[in-house]
Amino acid sequence: MTVLEPPHHTKPPVDPGTLDHRTLREGEFWRAIPAYAEVDETTFLDSIWQGRHSVKTPEELFETIHGLVEPAFIDDARAGFERAPMAVRVSPYMLASIDWANPYADPIRRQFIPLASTALPDHPRLTLDSLHEQEDSPVRGLTHRYVDKALFLPLNTCPVYCRFCTRSYAIGPDTEDVDKVALGKTPKDWHDAFTYIASRPELEDIVISGGDTYQLAPKNVLLIGESLLAIPHVRRLRFATKGPAVMPMKILTDTAWTDAITSVVERGRSLRKEVVIHTHFNNPNEISWITRNAMNLLFERGITVRNQTVLIRGVNDDVATMTRLVKRLEYLNVHPYYVYMHDLVRGVEELRTSIQTSVDLEKNVRGSTAGFNTPTFICDAPAGGGKRDVHSYEYYDRENGIAVYTAPSVKPGKYFTYFDPIHTLGADAQARWADPAAQDEMIAAAVERAGGRVEALA
Ligand code: SF4
Repeated sequence: MTVLEPPHHTKPPVDPGTLDHRTLREGEFWRAIPAYAEVDETTFLDSIWQGRHSVKTPEELFETIHGLVEPAFIDDARAGFERAPMAVRVSPYMLASIDWANPYADPIRRQFIPLASTALPDHPRLTLDSLHEQEDSPVRGLTHRYVDKALFLPLNTCPVYCRFCTRSYAIGPDTEDVDKVALGKTPKDWHDAFTYIASRPELEDIVISGGDTYQLAPKNVLLIGESLLAIPHVRRLRFATKGPAVMPMKILTDTAWTDAITSVVERGRSLRKEVVIHTHFNNPNEISWITRNAMNLLFERGITVRNQTVLIRGVNDDVATMTRLVKRLEYLNVHPYYVYMHDLVRGVEELRTSIQTSVDLEKNVRGSTAGFNTPTFICDAPAGGGKRDVHSYEYYDRENGIAVYTAPSVKPGKYFTYFDPIHTLGADAQARWADPAAQDEMIAAAVERAGGRVEALA
């Protein structure tokens, strides 16, 4: 008789306790916030209530979290609000997801509530519109950079305002520091964008962003979706919204909005055209049982959701957090699509990381799950080079923190530079950046090492 050997396992089973990407915040967690202690589930899940109770001033923040933080924290926030280039707006859902026992380190607080005490001087090469979206804008509210793709910006408001927003030149109300560029906000304004797209047969892919498409009235979701789908050469639409990360309950309770998106997706499917949602989760703590229910509803309706994360210091710049984020997203059927380098935007230097951080993170995240759910780590090359694989620099001067990229299919012959935050560099390099003449020399030398000449800098 043959005796069967027990199966040989090359890998021991994993301790289920380590699979923490599956453990979401459950229950009525918001009641820990003094202002929401008496708020029941129906009220908290109401997106209109969420919008009305979003915090926009230090006073509202103080009233909401009174007793949870030291007065010094509120003073710090008040000074931070005053100098921020972005207006502040934080949803109750986000406020309830912050660990108020440790607000300075909390990854959600870092994204939405500026503090004066942690601010760092801007990099000398920062500009407000670092991606030069306005230079590639043929009509108001439309950016046409890549051959077959356009970015349509039909509004300038969002359910929250992120401190690190790429479009701080246009998004939200004016601040002490910045008068915002006007985007078209009505169907009449959008007509020029539709006409331009219809006139350019190469355009197949339209991203509808803003602002945030969560803020579009359902009738305008339908108007924009159906107008674009009716253009024969348009093949793909992406509705961009941070909503699922910062106010997921809207998908569950604003049935008119969710039905409007569903209708556009179904209309697209009937025309054999793809319509998807692109969203923006940055940290696993943003995901709760409410998110799970919202993503389940979209999945049941056959709506694809892809995620674009921004790599932010103290939010997701360590391997454990980034891996947990990726795995939690895929667990909810959200495709982790991109991890962007933080753009070179004003007033948030303490949130940026180096190119090397992204390279190292990618190396560690790859292999932790299937390739199709492994995000591509990219640098959106400043001055309009478009998205580049972060590893694809022509040259990277790590000492001075200068990475040089080219973009042959977007702007052939041009060179694009990304700068690491100065406070992450050594003392000698920091001294060089303090001298404008030395800055020019360092940049010229890096471009030459990349094979270009300084005249070819974008
Ligand atoms: S939701 Fe998007 S567009 Fe709005 S502030 Fe945040 S990053 Fe900017």
